[in-house]
Parts: sequence; C-alpha cells; structure tokens
Amino acid sequence: MTTLLSVSHLKKYFPISAGFLGRRVGEVKAVDDVSFAIPEGKTFALVGESGSGKTTVGKTILRLIRPTGGDILFDGRNLSRLREGELKPWRRQMQIVFQDPTSSLNPRRRVADIVATPLEVHGIGTPRERLGRVRELLDLVELPEKYLYSYPHALSGGQKQRVAIARALALNPRFVVLDEPTSALDVSVQAKILALLARLQQELGLTYLLISHDLSVVKNFSDHIAVMYLGKLMEMAPTRELFANPLHPYTRALLSAIPVVTDEELALIPERIILEGEIPSPANAPTGCVFHTRCYARMEVCTQQAPPQLEVHPDHHAWCHLFTSEGSSKI
Ligand code: SF4
Repeated sequence: MTTLLSVSHLKKYFPISAGFLGRRVGEVKAVDDVSFAIPEGKTFALVGESGSGKTTVGKTILRLIRPTGGDILFDGRNLSRLREGELKPWRRQMQIVFQDPTSSLNPRRRVADIVATPLEVHGIGTPRERLGRVRELLDLVELPEKYLYSYPHALSGGQKQRVAIARALALNPRFVVLDEPTSALDVSVQAKILALLARLQQELGLTYLLISHDLSVVKNFSDHIAVMYLGKLMEMAPTRELFANPLHPYTRALLSAIPVVTDEELALIPERIILEGEIPSPANAPTGCVFHTRCYARMEVCTQQAPPQLEVHPDHHAWCHLFTSEGSSKI
C-alpha cells in the first residue's frame, strides 16, 4: 500500500511571553515528537481530550501553522521545508473540514459563492464553469440544488456541514483533515455525515486524518488510531487491534467511557475507569510520563523518565513503562 502522508518527529511549540517587552519565558509543547504514516485511501484517527494537541497536528500538517521541527512528507515531498510561496500547488491536494460549520461558513455569502471560493482563489474556470462545478459538488454531497442561492442561516447543521464538505472537495484534493466533523451536530445527523464521508472516500479515493475526542466515532470509521495526551502519542495501533487489546492506561480509561449497546461491545470495553483531575496545562506539563498525574498504574519511574516507544505487538505501539521491549505487561 502506498503511503500518502508520513509525519516524523513533528513538533509545534508556542512561545510563552511575559512582561512589558514580551520576553520569552517558556514554551507550550502543543505537539511533541509525533510520528505516524497514512496509506493512500485510508483513514487515520487522532483521538484525545481537548488540549491533547490533535488539532494542532492537523493544522501543522496542512502548514496552516509552521512546525517547530520534524518532517511532513506528502506524496514524497517534504512540506515542512517549503516556503509559503511554494506551498500553493500542495494546498490544492490537502483540505480541511472544521468542527463547527456555522462558524466556518461566511454568513454573508450564499452557498454557491462559498463552495466556489477555492476555485476563485486558485483562478480555476470562468464564473459559468465554476457554477457548473458547484452544482456537481452539491450533488456529490447530497444537498438539493434548491439551496444553491441560500445563505447559511437558512440551512440546518447537517446541511451546513455538507456545504463545508463540498467546499473542501472543490479542488479535487487527495487528503482531507476532518477536525471533529460531527461533534457540533445532533446525534441523528452525525451518522448521516459519517456515512457521506465514507462514501466520498470510496468514490474519490480520499485519504483522511480524522480528529476526534470520541472513540465511539472513530471505531467504525478509521483504519488506524493514535491516542494523544498533552502533545504526545500514548498508543497507536490498527483500529480493530486497539479496541480488542488496549494497552495504555489512558486508552483503557477512554475506552471504558464509551456507551455500549450490544453484549459483543460490552465484552470489548474495560471496566469503567474514572480518571482523577483535569488534563494539566500544556504550559506546565508533568515531568517523566506526561500522564502520570492522572494514571492509576503510576510507578516511581513514571515521574522521572518519559516512556520510550515500544512495539508491544506487531504494529501496536505504546508509550508506557508498564511494557517491556519483549512485549510483556506488568499490569
Ligand atoms: Fe501510567 Fe507510568 Fe504508563 Fe505513564 S508510563 S501511563 S504513568 S504506568
């Protein structure tokens, strides 16, 4: 399988300034040494609580923000080294769908104008050709043509997200970051939008990076999952393997919070684990393992040393001192 995107030792640090002169007094490690790869046509999910750094990973990959370090290889080209002016042809191939369609759509523009915006920005087609392409796109996302000249306020949440998806697809991208694409929607609409995204992936051969705080959303939608906490990866595995055999205490806690419907699901979900406290501020991340202040399996070493990456089972990686390099667990 061809790898479309690979991220290697990605870092994004934001400076903390203080005083009248704005002196730099520290930094927030929003993304710290994150590596993964996504094969073409597949979905890779980044999961974690708010503040884990997953959205910053997505924005850094798209070069909406500049990485502090690491490499972003897209179709063999290292985007992290390109200057702003060199990014334009690559930006056509990489798009994003944001969480909240209400704030991501300009309320003063009509659907036809919103969806045509990327074509205008890239100078593609005449106005008539662009309108033809907008009609095609609305058909693709199953939004009736009668909404062509509507303003966003006249649309439901699900319809607005269809407009946002149509706009993201206008330039025929190969890779789309889906940043919590359903979390602002009603439960009944969420399933329809996920079904639409799955169909579009099949028909157009799209590769997705799905960002979500909710493991139940990614369970049936992704091929591979990485769990993040305070800017770092905690565990990474194929989706089926992660649900069948969660290793990291944080993953087990997230999984235990998923509502279950069937006996089969109940057998897969660990006993309810309630994490103590809030996620610490990334400006003041704990030493050693960043999860140690909330971990129910914490050991002495966890407060002093950051755990290394271990491939505990084939293609199943964990960053936790509980696992030895031979793959045996101390749990
Ligand atoms: Fe918990 Fe220690 Fe593993 Fe961190 S390294 S998750 S604190 S057991």
